[in-house]
Amino acid sequence: MKTFALAGNPNCGKTTLFNALTGSTAHVGNWPGVTVDKREGIYRGGREKVAIVDLPGIYSLSPYTPEEVISRNYILDEKPCGIINVVDATNLERNLYLTTQLLEMDVPVIIALNMMDEVEKAGDAIDTAALERAVGVPVVSISALRKRGIAELMDRAIAMNGERRGTTVLEGGLSSKIERARQFFEATGVTSPLFHAVKMLEGDEIELKHEGAGELFTEISAGQDMEALVADMRYRYISEHFSSVKKRSGKSSLTKSDRADKVLTHKIWGLPIFAVILLAIFHLTFSEDLFYISAIAEACGSPLPSWGDMGYQFIDGTEIYSNFGIALAACFYDGAVFSPGVIFTNLLNLVLNYITYGIGLGVDATGAAQWASALINDGIVGGITAVLGFLPQILTLFLFFSILEDSGYMARVAFILDRIFRRFGLSGRAFMPMIMGFGCSIPAMINTRTLADDDERTATIRVIPFFSCGAKLPILTAIAGGFCNLVGFSNVDLITYSMYVLGVITAIIAVIVMRATTMRGEVPPFIMELPAYHMPGFVNLMLHLWDKTKHFIKKAFTIIFVSTIVIWFLQSFRWNWTYISDGDIQSSILASLGQLIQPLFTPLGFGSQLGSFGWVFAVAAITGLIAKENVIATFSVLAALFVANFEATEEGVEEVIILIAGTGISPAALIAFIMFNVTTIPCFAAVATARAELPKGRFVWTIVFWLVSSYLVGTVIYTVGSWWWTIFIWLVAAIVAGTLIVLRNKGKIKFPKINKRGA
Ligand code: GDP
Ligand code: MG
Repeated sequence: MKTFALAGNPNCGKTTLFNALTGSTAHVGNWPGVTVDKREGIYRGGREKVAIVDLPGIYSLSPYTPEEVISRNYILDEKPCGIINVVDATNLERNLYLTTQLLEMDVPVIIALNMMDEVEKAGDAIDTAALERAVGVPVVSISALRKRGIAELMDRAIAMNGERRGTTVLEGGLSSKIERARQFFEATGVTSPLFHAVKMLEGDEIELKHEGAGELFTEISAGQDMEALVADMRYRYISEHFSSVKKRSGKSSLTKSDRADKVLTHKIWGLPIFAVILLAIFHLTFSEDLFYISAIAEACGSPLPSWGDMGYQFIDGTEIYSNFGIALAACFYDGAVFSPGVIFTNLLNLVLNYITYGIGLGVDATGAAQWASALINDGIVGGITAVLGFLPQILTLFLFFSILEDSGYMARVAFILDRIFRRFGLSGRAFMPMIMGFGCSIPAMINTRTLADDDERTATIRVIPFFSCGAKLPILTAIAGGFCNLVGFSNVDLITYSMYVLGVITAIIAVIVMRATTMRGEVPPFIMELPAYHMPGFVNLMLHLWDKTKHFIKKAFTIIFVSTIVIWFLQSFRWNWTYISDGDIQSSILASLGQLIQPLFTPLGFGSQLGSFGWVFAVAAITGLIAKENVIATFSVLAALFVANFEATEEGVEEVIILIAGTGISPAALIAFIMFNVTTIPCFAAVATARAELPKGRFVWTIVFWLVSSYLVGTVIYTVGSWWWTIFIWLVAAIVAGTLIVLRNKGKIKFPKINKRGA
């Protein structure tokens, strides 16, 4: 089977084209560096089946970044039948810089002139035939996003015959030098001698390793800065010979992006604007009183009626089943207008209620034993529906995040943050995987491969879990709900938002400390071009959401399913294997195990001070190590029994909130509990990924780091939240630690070093 490789600048649409060709759903992100590894698929739409390889985005074929090395080695070593050079037509000259290098290889090249929809929208045009004549290889206009021109591109690609000699745009004084170097490489028998020759001329370290290349280079270059000379000549050639193919209408879409950037990446306003955008997103996802419509209505003199005022009874668990119309309406409105995230959650929970109810009836009808019906109703169904119920909010949040990402805004955020945090030892490059961590830590940790520096990479992997992932969202919302219930505060969205922000602040502090102590090093320069803003593609957004849904549901029915059953058994049986039928949960196996570890969490506020029922927090924190959704699943399984103890009749999340209130936990300790879960050892899968991705010898310390930071964060929050004046103690401790670090780094004090030889 023929193989074609997609090569091009970062963000020119390679992955979009790859997905369109192969029907796969690889992650497309509107920022550079999303595709770190190469990816393969099959295109079946042409005369014959061909394999397609998606390479990471590169600006050049010099070996300066891991992406460049991957792409270059792939083309040279694997010898694909042809290269499909994806070129962003809105940025023609800059993209053709890479093209001039690809052309130097002995491999057929076809240019896919992508984003032609944008070019046309701006009223510009590109003379493809003229460009084809000028570069000497086929050129086809396409739009990967709108799936236009793709069949023609592939037909012409497949029609290319396997042979092509490399050509170069470098001429004039350089010609004879290149020719000498080419003959040198031809004699060594390597493929693509012209490519190697030009690279050697640029002083490329890989080429200089060839036997005798060093001497030849010294002789030919004669002390000149050849690399700059070559780059300059490429650009000159491009502007003289290729630029004329563009016909500008005058009004350009790029300037619109520039104008937006004047505001959105503003030195002072950039960050506050980002904070406000995030707040708005959280409000739309979690708020139970959207934009305070009811407050505004009240201020205008006409309060919105509540269901009670409208002549309906308050809807409790039983009435939902008897009056579907009201139950449905109450999903949208309850005296206050809900946010879309809450509406979707209510709707799904309504359906889940019916299912739970139906299963309950079914189990009763079979006349199953009491323990069996409890296992099914409280254990399996209760645990899984508690977790599934959060899917709508997770999806709503990620829809917003995907829009920010795909529109090109997230790339700006990395740029804004780079400017601020560079002095603390963080580069904007490290922020991209961190922001990905809001989705899931695993791809985020893999994405750190774009960081060349081992220390920066380790520091980044360690703090990625602090960017609270989708699986932690149920903890945040449910416990935040419990918090609001305890203190009588109605803005769950604000609490959730603060928890996310607190996670990010912890991450920043942790990185600053690491970069000043064990992970010291220079911050590599951050060069990122900002992609033009564009409307996010609908299909693309839906693909993201679908991926998330699939992943989430799969987890709910595997890991979480098994975990809830185990928890249920442990809480329903005594050590002597007798079933607890009277609700005396305190005599269960789980209770005694929980009470054993409970004291560990005393400094964090959810340990021994909670007394008899307090162990549920300790147990939930431990089950979260398997999958973070387990924290809520655990609460839900436990709540079924607990709530009977507290004589309440609520279902689902409400039940969990009652359980929380019943333990007598303080508001400060609840926040400490959330932040402990956000910053502690992540789930099993993420730990395995960290182990695989971390540089040698860093894994064990990373686990220690997670334990220490979560313990510290929880303790600080609990003590300061309970006794405000303890903040001074922590401040003094922080100042002392900071001063010691600064003095040490200046060499003013030395810590005794352990002499390994024992001398
Ligand atoms: P890669 O970094 O080269 O793999 O680029 P991606 O495939 O991730 O795409 C980068 C961005 O460009 C995404 O936001 C895409 O939606 C967008 N994009 C890709 N192809 C087109 C196109 O033909 N037209 C437009 N308007 N946008 C595109
Ligand atoms: Mg890509």
